[in-house]
Amino acid sequence: MSPKNIVKCILCDMDGVLRIGTQPIPGVQNIFYYFEELKIQPIIITNECRYTNKKVYDDLKNMKILKDDTIPLITSANVCKTWLENYMYSNNFRYDKFNVCVIGEKGLQENIKAIKSNNLSINSVWELDNRTQNIIILGSLFNYTENHKKIIKQWLSNTSTLIVKTCDDNADPESNCILPNTILHKFNKVADVNVGKPDINFSQEVNRLLKQMDLSHIDSNEIMLVGDTMNTDIKMGIGLGYKTTLVLSGNTKIYDLKTYSYSPDYILPSLDFIKKIL
Ligand SMILES: [Mg+2]
Repeated sequence: MSPKNIVKCILCDMDGVLRIGTQPIPGVQNIFYYFEELKIQPIIITNECRYTNKKVYDDLKNMKILKDDTIPLITSANVCKTWLENYMYSNNFRYDKFNVCVIGEKGLQENIKAIKSNNLSINSVWELDNRTQNIIILGSLFNYTENHKKIIKQWLSNTSTLIVKTCDDNADPESNCILPNTILHKFNKVADVNVGKPDINFSQEVNRLLKQMDLSHIDSNEIMLVGDTMNTDIKMGIGLGYKTTLVLSGNTKIYDLKTYSYSPDYILPSLDFIKKIL
């Protein structure tokens, strides 16, 4: 293991790496200053979809993890917006209307509402029309109500409904919400599309951002992905040829590692320890 790495960009997961709930993980409060000193570009990447980007920035600033809104942030709600825009664009010859039901909190709702298209209808009622594509988007929820259950049941009972989920996570370190996989499991269904890490929809959004920031020349092995979850963060990082660092401050314990057929390049107690390998 080489003690020092050439890293030009760090893709940093949020929950379990920077914070758990409203608590910063010890040592992270000066980490972005440290990246700045080393001229490393950080990007926060999260499967969290419940909050708007503004709310995430405000929370991270309140916890003194960030000083302002300048560090780029990609949430799975942002990726969902891009995915739906692209899907509608490439399928507009087949359908006149995209009837979309959004089961999620404000972050997801606002991202989908921000799409400007005359073909998009945001609706909770499924529609029978062969020129209409019904799409249900499932995000994480604070409260899973009887009304949610009724709506989801109606949409999922029609096999032509396209099912989209915002993440593939099975646990969140805060454990205060119901995740899309849990909802789908109740209906014995699987999603057709995943927009969260480790899916290609998420990595394409990362690549788009790197290009926009004029950073697409960075070699993949000069990018490091830091996360606390093996099957989302580390899997995506390995798939893209990035260096990967698993931190044990979130939902993975060291003894969990033997259940995976792949392993990260580095395992650290928390993000603060990254100073030892940069
Ligand atoms: Mg995490």
